[in-house]
Amino acid sequence: MNIPSKVIKRLSLYHYILNDIDGQYVSSAQIAQLLKIDNSQVRKDIKYINNPGKCRVGYDVKELKKAIEKNLGFKQKRNAFIIGAGNVGSALAKYDNFKVYGLNIIAMFDNNEAKIGSNINGTKVYNITKIGEMVKQSKVDIAILTVPKHAANEIADRLVRAGIKYIWNFTPKVLDVPEGVKVWHENLVGTFLQIRNIKG
Ligand code: NAD
Repeated sequence: MNIPSKVIKRLSLYHYILNDIDGQYVSSAQIAQLLKIDNSQVRKDIKYINNPGKCRVGYDVKELKKAIEKNLGFKQKRNAFIIGAGNVGSALAKYDNFKVYGLNIIAMFDNNEAKIGSNINGTKVYNITKIGEMVKQSKVDIAILTVPKHAANEIADRLVRAGIKYIWNFTPKVLDVPEGVKVWHENLVGTFLQIRNIKG
């Protein structure tokens, strides 16, 4: 079943919560209370992954965790490239926990001679000119874009030409990509602006 992206995000939060629960069962109300959302929302989300739970006792924590992992594909490894081995790109390459969710960063790319050939947390930095060849060889279709804003469009075009289909864009640039290529804009600023605009 196709799980809507908002549901996927909430299920990943439920998974965080389940990681910290010691008991055998958890209720939707417990999860809802922690996240300050509606109990009915939690139940509806969990229905997507076909986990019925038990009347009165709630969901078996281990089973629910497994169901989330299976339905969100934690075990189906996806390889990805990071483009831009600077502050953000390096921080992402150093985050080993991505592997738990199935994300393998297999190479990084940059145009700075001083960085090309170096190694960040075991991930080699290649010359950006090698991107076409590397996409072909490795069949990677996900790129994490962490170059400066001024280079974002040019690099995105290059990635698309190379055969990249999914771009996780950290740059503050809305990318114009052809049909068939999907972009996710990661935007910490947007989250901060939500915080500062909360009417307390
Ligand atoms: P940085 O300058 O430390 O790193 C950028 C890297 O890209 C450098 O290693 C540089 O050599 C490389 N680069 C530049 N032009 C290139 C090109 N044409 N081809 C290949 N590599 C190239 O910058 P940073 O602090 O890591 O920030 C990276 C991006 O992330 C910026 O666009 C920044 O605005 C953005 N950012 C986004 C968020 C967010 O919330 N999404 C938060 C912080 C930063």
